[in-house]
Amino acid sequence: MDAVHPDDQAYAHDTFAAANLKRKAFRLEYRLRRKDGEYRWAINAAAPRFGADGRFLGYIGSVIDITDRKRAESLARCQKQALEMVVQGLPLPDVLDYLCRTIENESQEGVIACIHLLDDAATEFQHTAAPSLPETYAQAVNGMAVSSATGPCCQAVSTRQTVAVPDVAADPQWAAFCGFALPLGLRACWSTPIFSANQKVLGTFANYYRAPRDPNPRDQQLVEVVTRTVAVAIERKQAEEKLRASEYRFARFMQHLPGLAWIKDLDGRYVYANDAAEKAFRTPRAELYGKTDKEVFPPETAAQFRDNDQRALASESGIQTIETMEHADGIHHHSIVSKFPISGSDGKTVLVGGVAIDITERMRAEEALQESDRRKNEFLAMLAHELRNPLAPIRNALQIMRLTGRNGEAVHSASEMMERQVGQMVRLVDDLLDVSRISRGKIELRKRRVELASVVNHAVEAARSLYKSMNHELTVTLPPQPLYLNGDPTRLAQVVGNLLSNACKFTDKGGRIWLTVEQEGEQAVIRVRDSGIGIAADQLPRIFEMFRQVDTSLERSHGGLGIGLSLVKNLVEMHGGTAVVHSAGLGQGSEFVVRLPILVETTKLPSEPTVSEPTTTTARRILVVDDNRDSAESLAMLLKLSGNETHTAYDGLEAVEAAATFKPNLVLLDIGLPKLNGYDAARKIREQPWSKGMVLVALTGWGQEEDRQRSREAGFDGHIVKPVDLTALMKLLAESGAG
Ligand code: ADP
Repeated sequence: MDAVHPDDQAYAHDTFAAANLKRKAFRLEYRLRRKDGEYRWAINAAAPRFGADGRFLGYIGSVIDITDRKRAESLARCQKQALEMVVQGLPLPDVLDYLCRTIENESQEGVIACIHLLDDAATEFQHTAAPSLPETYAQAVNGMAVSSATGPCCQAVSTRQTVAVPDVAADPQWAAFCGFALPLGLRACWSTPIFSANQKVLGTFANYYRAPRDPNPRDQQLVEVVTRTVAVAIERKQAEEKLRASEYRFARFMQHLPGLAWIKDLDGRYVYANDAAEKAFRTPRAELYGKTDKEVFPPETAAQFRDNDQRALASESGIQTIETMEHADGIHHHSIVSKFPISGSDGKTVLVGGVAIDITERMRAEEALQESDRRKNEFLAMLAHELRNPLAPIRNALQIMRLTGRNGEAVHSASEMMERQVGQMVRLVDDLLDVSRISRGKIELRKRRVELASVVNHAVEAARSLYKSMNHELTVTLPPQPLYLNGDPTRLAQVVGNLLSNACKFTDKGGRIWLTVEQEGEQAVIRVRDSGIGIAADQLPRIFEMFRQVDTSLERSHGGLGIGLSLVKNLVEMHGGTAVVHSAGLGQGSEFVVRLPILVETTKLPSEPTVSEPTTTTARRILVVDDNRDSAESLAMLLKLSGNETHTAYDGLEAVEAAATFKPNLVLLDIGLPKLNGYDAARKIREQPWSKGMVLVALTGWGQEEDRQRSREAGFDGHIVKPVDLTALMKLLAESGAG
C-alpha cells in the first residue's frame, strides 16, 4: 500500500478488503510508484486460491502497467472533447485554453501547456493560449516576430523542427530567454511546430516543466496529439470562416440582382431567397425559410409554382416559363422564370433553384407600342385617303380644261375647283409638318403684340367658303374693347380656324355655330360652339390626342387626319393658354373653349407691321432654279405672264452658269439641289463681281428661323417657303427693289 499513490490508497484498500472478506476475485486500477519514484497506472487483478480441503490459500493475480494505454485514452478524450467544441462553434481561443488545461490535468507529468498561433504571413505570434501562466506571458509572446529568435518557439517556427531545451538555465544559447522564463518558473521547454495539412507552420505547442527534464517518449505522444488537434481545429475554423465569407459575399451579390432568386429543397421548402424575392413574396426571410409555397401563397399560385418546380426537377438543365403572381399593389405581375435542379457533390439533385425577372412593365409597354403602331397604320391609311381625295377632282378639272379648250366659263370653274382642292392638300400637308415639328419641339412662335379681333376675323374669313357651302349660320360676337395678346397671329388664326372648320365639319348642313370672344379678368376667352353631332362623354378626355378621331370608319363623312385638335392644344399651350371641350353628349352639340393671357404691359412689344400693298412692278429678268422641272417651269410661266423675262435651271451648277450668262435681277433658288446645293450655289454666285445688285431668294420647304439664318449667311436676300404664293413673292420683289 505504501507504493500506491496516496490518492488511490483508500480506494485500493477498501476494494481489496471487501473482496478478501468474501474470498472473492478483485480487480483494481491504481497508480503505483516505481522504484525510480515515478507513478504508473496499473491493473491489479487476482482470483482466490483454495486448498483441496477448501481452505483459503490466498490470491493469485497479476499487476499490469497500463499507463500508456491510460494516457492514450485520456489524450483521445481530450482531443475528442476539443474537436466537439470546435464543431459546436465555440471560439478557437476557448478551445485552445481547454486543450491546455485538460492536458495539464491528465498528463500527471507537471506539464505547463502553451499554444502559440502565428499570423497569416507566419512572421509573428498572434495569439497565445497559456491558461496556467500569468497574463504577462501571453502579452510578451503576442506580437513577437519570429525573426527575433527570442525563444525556442521562434526557432521551432524557423527551423520547422522541435526544439528541446532540457534546462533553460544550463544552456548558454538561451541566456536571453532565461531572463524571461525563470521568473515564470519555467525550467525546461519543448517547443514543436504545428503544421497545417499543406505543411504550413500555423504556430507552436510549447510544453514547459518546472524542473530540468529530458524529453521522453510520453511527452512525444502528448505533443503529437496536441499539435494534430490544434491543426485540425484551426483548419476547420478557417474553412468555416471561408464558408461564412463566401456566403456573405453570395448574399451581398444577390442583393443587387434586379430579379428574384430563391432555392428550395426537394420537399419544396425555401432555403434561400434574395432581397427582391423576400420583398415580392411579402414574407420575411426568417419566416419564409422552411416553408413551402402552399404555406406562403394562395392555392392556385402555389400549385403553379410547384408544377413548374416538378417540371424543372424532371429536366436535365431546367426550364424557362412565365409565372404570374399578385403583388402587394394588387396587380398580377408576370415574370420570366428560370427553374433548374441543383445537384450536391455526389451529382444527385438536392435542391431546386429559380430566378425571375418581372416583365409586367415590358408587356405593358409592348402593348402600348402595338396600340401606337396600330394607330399609326390607321393614320397612314387615312392620310393616303385624304391626299387622294382632292386628286380626282383636280384630274377631272384638267380633263375639262383640255376638252373645252378656251371655253372661258368651264376653264374658270374648273380652275376654281382645282384651287380649292390644292388649297385643301396644302392645308393637310401644312398640318402634317406642323404636327411633326411640334412633336420634335421645333416649332417657333413669331410672337408680337396682336389684336385678337383681327386674328379672329381672319380665321372667319378663311372659313367663309366652308360654312357657306354647308349652309351653316355663323354668329360672331366680339368684345367692345380691343384685346391685345403677345402671340403669333398666324398660329392663333390657325387655332380659331381649326375649331371653326371642325364645327362646320361635325354639324349637319344648316346648323348653327357661335364664335364668341370675351374678356374674363386677365384672360381672353374664345368659345366656338356648334349645334352639331356632339361628343360622347367617354371620348371627351382623349379628343385632343394626336391622330384621335371618334369615327375612324372609312364610311365616315368628314375628312381630316385627327391632328387639328392636337395642334390647337399645343399651340394654345405654347401661348400660355388652355383649350378644353364640353359636350352634353351625342347629338347635343359641342363647345371648345380657349383661354389666352391678355397683354397687360404693351409698350415694349413690336406692333403689327403696316403692310404696304405691292407696288406695280417693272419687268425683271428672273432665274428660276428647281430640280422639280414642273415646279420650275410652272413658276417661270407664271412670272412670264406677269411680264417678266425668265430662265430656268435644274441643278446647282447649272444655276451658277445661268446666273453668269443670263445675268438676272432676281434668282429664285431651291435649296435641295443636285450637284451643288442651294446654299453653295448662292455662295458661288455671291463670289462674282457681277452678282452685285442681284437679288437671291431661297425657296425651301422649311421656314424655321435657323433655315432663314443659314440662307442669310449663304448670301440670300430673302427666304420663301414652298409652295410659292405669288402675292407673297410679288411683295418680296417690291420690297427688295429688285430691278
Ligand atoms: P379631324 O377633324 O381631322 O378628325 P381633329 O383633331 O380636329 O381631327 O378632331 C379630332 C376628332 O374630334 C374628330 O375626328 C371628331 O371626332 C372630334 N371632333 C372635333 N371637333 C368636333 C366637333 N365640333 N363636334 C364633334 N366632334 C368633334
